[in-house]
Amino acid sequence: MGFKAKARKHNPDGDKKDDSKNNKSKQGEQPCGIKGCEKFSDKSFGGRSLSIDNAIEMWGSGNYSDRKGRVRVCKGCYRKWKKENKSDDSY
Ligand SMILES: [Zn+2]
Repeated sequence: MGFKAKARKHNPDGDKKDDSKNNKSKQGEQPCGIKGCEKFSDKSFGGRSLSIDNAIEMWGSGNYSDRKGRVRVCKGCYRKWKKENKSDDSY
């Protein structure tokens, strides 16, 4: 009886979690693809990805860096783009 409780005991450093990557203030890993922008485009930061055509229209060719055919942008840049493009269908 009680063998389950015993089995659980075999866990020397069980509650010693690796928190070394979580002890700093929030930092992104994916930089925004727009030149001159220093924000992050991580999903947790609200970042999005635009097509290259969209990026060229908005920022001009050469003013962004693409990745596999997409341009990752931060929340702010995406909003800017969206604002510029929201009236697309009213033409
Ligand atoms: Zn940006």
